[in-house]
Amino acid sequence: GQKIGVFTSGGDAQGMNAAVRAIVRVGMFLGCKVFYIKEGYQGMVDGGDNIQEATWQSSSNIINVGGTVIGSARCMDFKERWGRLKAAQNLIYWGITNLIAIGGDGSLTGANCFRLEWPSLVRELVDKDMISKDKIAQCSHLNIVGLVGSIDNDFCGTDMTIGVDSALHRIQEAVDSIMTTAVSHKRGFVLEIMGRNCGYLPLAAGISSEATAIFIPEDPPVGDWRQALCDQMTEKSKSGEVRRTHIILVAEGAIDREGNAIKCYDVQKVLTDQMKMDVRVTVLGHVQRGGNASAFDRLLATRMGAEAVLALMDATPTTPACVICLDGSDIVRRHLLNAVQKTKKVVELMGERRFEDVVQLRGRQ
Ligand code: ADP
Repeated sequence: GQKIGVFTSGGDAQGMNAAVRAIVRVGMFLGCKVFYIKEGYQGMVDGGDNIQEATWQSSSNIINVGGTVIGSARCMDFKERWGRLKAAQNLIYWGITNLIAIGGDGSLTGANCFRLEWPSLVRELVDKDMISKDKIAQCSHLNIVGLVGSIDNDFCGTDMTIGVDSALHRIQEAVDSIMTTAVSHKRGFVLEIMGRNCGYLPLAAGISSEATAIFIPEDPPVGDWRQALCDQMTEKSKSGEVRRTHIILVAEGAIDREGNAIKCYDVQKVLTDQMKMDVRVTVLGHVQRGGNASAFDRLLATRMGAEAVLALMDATPTTPACVICLDGSDIVRRHLLNAVQKTKKVVELMGERRFEDVVQLRGRQ
């Protein structure tokens, strides 16, 4: 049987454990040995206890748990050639030549570079006597499959990333909680929601919680947003709509057309000064990453994890690495590098404030 290593890297996201579980079980079902590589790339570089063979039992009782039980880390060492050389040495020691990387675009970029560099790493290991020559034949190629774990939904190529839906649930719970106190006191609330380059969470949460206004990075308000916000609220009350509260959601990365940040406290000041409202600010922060995985994320991650193992079994030295994506309601394989490059391009376009191009690029597969 083949040997598969699985690791989680970059920011954690609810549902990563469900993916790990599915990978272990589908892998074992197909006669493979599956290994946990703990603490992301750091565990791969450090080796030792960080690399452990998975058992059926060890992947029980984690499907519901948020975060990642095998640990995640940012790893500077892996960005250096010597770090990747050590990582390759450790993988070859265990005979692992199939990897499933669960992480954001940074982690998947790293995985793709590692795969392309693999033959030269193996040569260097042999030259330096860091691995025995008889290992080379079984280790000449490294297969990589990516899964996207990110609460931001900021990856091109997939309709949803693992963790988004759970984060949305957390936000919804928080908004519902705030609503009860807001309504009691006729207070307004401005909430900061995660999403640096991608406004999916504030947009979706805003729609599902009847927010008065939503500020997202991809669609900055045209003209004077302060005046527009006040006008909108005045109109609402003129039209007879009685509202005891107003909820306004602001993405972390919200900006105006000139690229100036729009922060919760700016919105609060406008409503306090111009509308004479009693307004409070709540920054949801890491609450959004916390808690159990939603049913949707468990299913999504399970389906993606299973497909990742199947993709590894189909991989050949010449097939490009793939990333497992959701397309409508189908789980599909897409070209990893293309998806990563598109995601990076979106960030670049955001920096140049080319919003129409961002929307177009995100929409195309
Ligand atoms: P995310 O995966 O959530 O986007 P990061 O961008 O921080 O998070 O990447 C996580 C880790 O992936 C980094 O700490 C580093 O170890 C590895 N990594 C990222 N980019 C590269 C790269 N170009 N080459 C090698 N490793 C990388």
